[in-house]
Amino acid sequence: MNKHARIFVAGHRGMVGSALVRRLLADGYRDIVTRSRAELDLTDQAAVNRFFEDEQIDVVLLAAARVGGILANATRPGEFIYENLVIETNVIHAAYRAHVERLVFFGSSCIYPKQCPQPIREEYLLTSALEPTNDAYAIAKIAGLKLCDAYNREYNTQFVALMPTNLYGPNDNYDLNSSHVLPALLRKAHEAKVSGAATLTVWGSGTPRREFLHVDDLAAATLFILEHNVTEGLFNVGVGDDLSIRELAECINRVVGFEGELVFDTSKPDGTPRKLLDVSRLAGMNWHATIGLEQGIAATYRDFVASRAGSTPAAALQA
Ligand code: GDP
Repeated sequence: MNKHARIFVAGHRGMVGSALVRRLLADGYRDIVTRSRAELDLTDQAAVNRFFEDEQIDVVLLAAARVGGILANATRPGEFIYENLVIETNVIHAAYRAHVERLVFFGSSCIYPKQCPQPIREEYLLTSALEPTNDAYAIAKIAGLKLCDAYNREYNTQFVALMPTNLYGPNDNYDLNSSHVLPALLRKAHEAKVSGAATLTVWGSGTPRREFLHVDDLAAATLFILEHNVTEGLFNVGVGDDLSIRELAECINRVVGFEGELVFDTSKPDGTPRKLLDVSRLAGMNWHATIGLEQGIAATYRDFVASRAGSTPAAALQA
């Protein structure tokens, strides 16, 4: 991809979008276009159309989305399906109309069926029913990747969909009611250590298994796709390895230095039992994640502590 390409990062204040901007700048891309929500409401179709007509964008990285953890998804499915559907249709259609050359759409591993053979291959999409705690979000993301595919087939666009596994890193959401498990446990461990608590509460049974990818690895995979001229398709992005929620909590406690007991609150949902991605499609092209889990959690913890103190060394892991 040309270093002078005009690249619109939609959702640049979020965890994925901010990682993309860091990576693009580090790699020498200079024409990066961003808009805050106040400047451009991506749910406003007319505003999105005007933006694309005016800005002559070459490449779109569509990282804007309504995202959240298991409780937020289970309790606010209307917001998750509506906002994601409308952002995707607005941006993807406007990008096509404005002759955008390349677009990368970001989804999530929850698009795959609940009872999937593991590790999950891209071909398992739509082979059986979804996990009910996040089916509204998943349907919206499936619609997004199908939009990309349909536009490629009908209009010869070059729109690619990346499906990362559970992500973590700088600029994550640490609100305990709406966050994902890793930032939630990082915050809980930190606060338990600081307050000298004896226990830390983990939701569910601790037995579900999850795979975690540092968001800087997702940014690296995105640049890999763009720079290797991959112009269509669906690609899982993960590390190829998972662990139980109990093991994750133990790892986080080690990093943070909290030595109390784990307590499991089984009134909270477990969600899907396992979602380990098969990453051989990208591995076959010679792309691999490089940030180990404990190393990534340690860097994220430093960032969490620093941002609470008022500064953000968000580029800590940037090569
Ligand atoms: P999911 O991967 O879509 O299920 O989303 P989450 O990251 O929110 O949850 C993953 C797993 O971690 C589920 O089994 C949760 O019950 C479990 N979990 C344990 N403690 C927590 C917590 O404090 N917050 C969240 N969000 N999940 C937790």
